[in-house]
Amino acid sequence: METNEKTVSGNFIEVAIKRDLEDGTYSRPIKTRFPPEPNGYLHIGHAKSICLNFTLGAEFNGTTNLRFDDTNPTKENDEYVKAIENDVKWLGFDWAEECFASDYFDKMYECAEMLIKKGRAFVCELTPEQMKEYRGTLTEPGKESPYRNRSIDENLRLFREMRDGKYEDGEMCLRAKIDMSSPNMNMRDPVIYRISHDAHHRTGTKWCIYPMYDFAHPLEDAIEGVTHSICTMEFEDHRPLYDWVLRETEWTEPPRQIEFARLNITNTVMSKRYLKRLIDDGVVEGWDDPRMPTISGLRRRGYTPEAIRNFCADIGVAKAYSKVDAAQLESCIRNDLQLKTQSRNVILDPLKVVITNYPEGRTEMCEIENNRNVPEMGTRMVPFSRELYVEREDFMEVPVKKYFRLFPGNEVRFKGAYFITCDEVVKDDAGNVTELRCKYDPETKSGSGFEGRKVKGTIHWVDAASAVPVTVRDFGYLLRTDEETGEEVTNENTITIHEAFAEPAIEDSEPGSRWQFFRHGYYIEDTKLSTPDHKVFNRTVDLKSSWKPKKK
Ligand code: ATP
Ligand code: MG
Repeated sequence: METNEKTVSGNFIEVAIKRDLEDGTYSRPIKTRFPPEPNGYLHIGHAKSICLNFTLGAEFNGTTNLRFDDTNPTKENDEYVKAIENDVKWLGFDWAEECFASDYFDKMYECAEMLIKKGRAFVCELTPEQMKEYRGTLTEPGKESPYRNRSIDENLRLFREMRDGKYEDGEMCLRAKIDMSSPNMNMRDPVIYRISHDAHHRTGTKWCIYPMYDFAHPLEDAIEGVTHSICTMEFEDHRPLYDWVLRETEWTEPPRQIEFARLNITNTVMSKRYLKRLIDDGVVEGWDDPRMPTISGLRRRGYTPEAIRNFCADIGVAKAYSKVDAAQLESCIRNDLQLKTQSRNVILDPLKVVITNYPEGRTEMCEIENNRNVPEMGTRMVPFSRELYVEREDFMEVPVKKYFRLFPGNEVRFKGAYFITCDEVVKDDAGNVTELRCKYDPETKSGSGFEGRKVKGTIHWVDAASAVPVTVRDFGYLLRTDEETGEEVTNENTITIHEAFAEPAIEDSEPGSRWQFFRHGYYIEDTKLSTPDHKVFNRTVDLKSSWKPKKK
C-alpha cells in the first residue's frame, strides 16, 4: 500500500523498493537516475529530485546516474549541461555514469522499427489540427487515423524516408498503434517520433527525426539498467504508456516508474520556462541572480549544500500536492549558518556619532566575540574612537513606547565598548538629523567587570576613521500573493542596495565568504560583483524566523 506518510520505515518509495528487493524483482542492483532536460538551470525543485534519487541509490547499495534527457534539439545546449553537472556536484552527489539520451538515438530508432515490424506503430500524415480533432476528449473516444492501417512495408519505407530527410518538419510522424478509445488519452495512438531539422547540441545534423518523451524516457531507463524511475505526479497518467513501450520493445526486468509530488514553495516559482522569462524580461539579472530559486541563485545568495539537503529531507516525499512555506527553507539556512559564521559589525544606514568627551586622536581596541554560540571561534579586536557610525534606525528623537535604543538623554551599551548617552542632536537646514553628540562613561568598558548600573539597549557601531565602505544588497521575494485574488503576482522592487560601513575586520572576507552582520542577518560576499577595492555582500537570510516547525 502506498501512503503519503513519512513513516519510521521510510517513505512510500523506499517501501516499494524494499518490496522489490524482497520479491527478487530485479537480478541487478538498484539503480536510479536524475534525468534533467538541459534546457535551463536547475532549481530547488530539482534538488528535491536529486536528493531523493541519490539517497535511494546509496541507501539500497545501488547507484544513480546523471542523465541528460536531450531529445529536443531546439532548446538544449552545452551551457546548461555544464551548469547542471556543477550544481549536482555542488549539492554533494556523485553519479555513477553520466549519460545522454542522445547517445541512444540509434537504439531508439531500432526500437521504433521493431514496433513497426510488429504492427504496433504507423506513419501518420494527419496535420496537428486534424490529429487534435481525431484525438477525442476525456468523455468521448477518439477516431482512428486514416493512415492507421498502412502495411508494415509502407510504414517502414516512410519511416526510413523520414529519417533520411525526405520530409519537412511536421509533414508526418510515427505513432504507436494502441487504442483510440482508451479512457487514458495518453494511450490514444501517441506520437513517438517527429521530424525536426534543427541541429542538436551533440548529434548535430545526423538526425532529423527525434523520439518523443513518452517513447524515449522508458527506453533510456531500460538501456541504462535503471530499476526505479522516479518522477513527478504529472507523469502518473503516462505510466501505462511507459509500461507499454517497455513491454512491446521486449525488455526483461523492465524498470518501473514511481511518482511523487513536485516541490512548490510560496513566493517563488519552480519552472524553468517561467524562470527563463524572468531573465528575458529583465526582472532578474540571470539564472544565478540571488533572488532566483535556482541552485546557482541560492548558492550565490549564500545557501550551503547542507542547508538545501536538510530542507529536502525535512519536507519529505508524498503524493499529495502541497506548497511549502519559503520560511521553512530560510529556517534551514539560518540553522546551518548560525554555528558556521563569524560576526562582523556593519552599519547599513549610517548616522554619525561624536563622543564629545572622548579624546581626539585616540583609538582603543575592543575585544568582541566572533560567534556568541561558538566560543571556539574566538574574538577579534575592533577599533573605537571619538567618531563612530550607528544605524539610523537605532535613534529616535521622540521615542515610541518600549524603545530602548538611542534617544536624547538615554544611555545604551555600544556592543563590546562603553555605555553611551545621547545628549545633542545636530540637524541640517531641512531638519534631517545628521549627527548625534554623545558622552561615554569610561568606567563602563565591556569586560571591565563594571556592575554599577544596567542599560536596556545594546547597539552596534563602526569606528568612522577605519570604516570600510561596502555595498550590501537585501532581497525581497520575486512573487507575492495578491490579497484580492489570492494569485501569486510578480513583486516590484525586490532588491535594496545599502552603501554601508563595515568594521576593518571585514577585510578577512573573500568572494564567497559567509558572515553574520550583527543584528542584521547572514550575508555572503558576492562572487561576481565584489572587487578587491570594493566588496559587495548579499543578504542570505535575516536573523529572525517567523517559521516554527509544526507540532507533531
Ligand atoms: P521545469 O518545468 O522546471 O522545466 P521539468 O520537470 O521539465 O521542470 P526536467 O529537467 O525535465 O524539468 O526535470 C528533471 C527531473 O527533476 C525530473 O525527474 C522532474 O520530475 C524533477 N523535477 C522538476 N521539477 C521538480 C519539482 N518542482 N519538484 C520535484 N522534482 C522536480
Ligand atoms: Mg521538462
